[in-house]
Amino acid sequence: MRVLVIGSGAREHALALALGRDPGVSEVHCAPGNAGIASAATLHQVNASSAEDVVALVTKIAADLVVIGPEVPLVLGVADAVRAAGIATFGPSAAAARIEGSKAFAKDVMAAAGVRTALSEIVDTPAELDAALDRFGPTWVVKDDGLAAGKGVVVTADRRAARDHAAELLERGHPVLLESFLSGPEVSLFCLVDGETVVPLLPAQDHKRVGDGDTGPNTGGMGAYTPLPWLPAAMVARIVDEVARPVASEMVRRGCPFSGLLYAGLAIDSEGPTVIEFNCRFGDPETQAVLALLESPFGELLKATATGTLDSVGPLQWRDGAAVTVVLAAENYPGRPRSGDVITGADGDEVLHAGTAKRDDGALISSGGRVLSVVGVGTDLAGARAYAYETLAAIRLAGGHFRTDIGLAAVEGRISI
Ligand code: AMP
Repeated sequence: MRVLVIGSGAREHALALALGRDPGVSEVHCAPGNAGIASAATLHQVNASSAEDVVALVTKIAADLVVIGPEVPLVLGVADAVRAAGIATFGPSAAAARIEGSKAFAKDVMAAAGVRTALSEIVDTPAELDAALDRFGPTWVVKDDGLAAGKGVVVTADRRAARDHAAELLERGHPVLLESFLSGPEVSLFCLVDGETVVPLLPAQDHKRVGDGDTGPNTGGMGAYTPLPWLPAAMVARIVDEVARPVASEMVRRGCPFSGLLYAGLAIDSEGPTVIEFNCRFGDPETQAVLALLESPFGELLKATATGTLDSVGPLQWRDGAAVTVVLAAENYPGRPRSGDVITGADGDEVLHAGTAKRDDGALISSGGRVLSVVGVGTDLAGARAYAYETLAAIRLAGGHFRTDIGLAAVEGRISI
């Protein structure tokens, strides 16, 4: 099977490596990829958000399966175009990708499916803002009602900070979503979904804030670990029954069945799971950790999802132990990151590249906010953390920063429901 992965982040690097480990996959291609993915896949310079360019490439290399990593091409309908060209495609249609692309759509689906989520209100004009803020908070949760790469959300107990963020979004013409604050620990559950069939992967936890101890602004994600020692064993099945399957059925009922990866971001409390958000694709950085433990043939799983035969796949096989991803970010991230700094020591399959590029003289340099992630696997979470941080210690990037506490609260038993 010849597989084409669309995207250029550490998530796509992890996807390419996991596909390469499947004996049923003969060739892995990636477009556009990055300097690190070049050692795991054949790269093609293509605009990933252009359906026409992607279809032309798929035809040229005669791909048997196309896997679309990021949300932007999905929301723009790239999966529809590749599917229309007759190629098996892992990734939802533009209509189904609205579960991520529009928070208002996601809320509507959840209401219809009877899925628990935060109370919310859309604010369209500055005149409505103050009264709406009075109905929420403290703590306030202020979101951009559209794609914002995980950075459109401000969670704050400071009313002025909440108001400023909302006012700025409105000034840019973006509707604002205000939400009730959910305080339980967060879980990311990735589910392969093909119509009504739902197959969950291992639960993971992301660390969204830039600084240790969950301080500073939200980012695209600074690290993740899997599995979650503090999560009751029955909770994954509960999330499938109470969240993923009802949403999948509702999407079928609405005539926009979901095919691909449904990512449920949840807060867990004593009453069970409450949805924070859905994404329509693999999450970064959780994917890097989750796929490090997968033993089932990954290409076969994605192909089964893409071709509507997921119900014939047996139970997934996982390696024992734990995996931890730690993200190395460029100076200033999540603000305007500095790029062009030389990176050394970033070798091996434990190092997954995101914002990296090759300079003309062959040196590896930074070219984005999240520069790379390292993945540690161990017999337990403490061992996985130790491995990841040892790998990171050998990497040099001027101004680079990372969190030192990924998975630490779980190791120390400080997370409870
Ligand atoms: P989102 O873009 O909706 O995933 O939000 C990004 C992050 O903001 C989440 O992973 C949470 O850490 C936080 N967040 C979003 N919504 C809420 C909420 N209603 N209550 C508490 N935290 C939230």
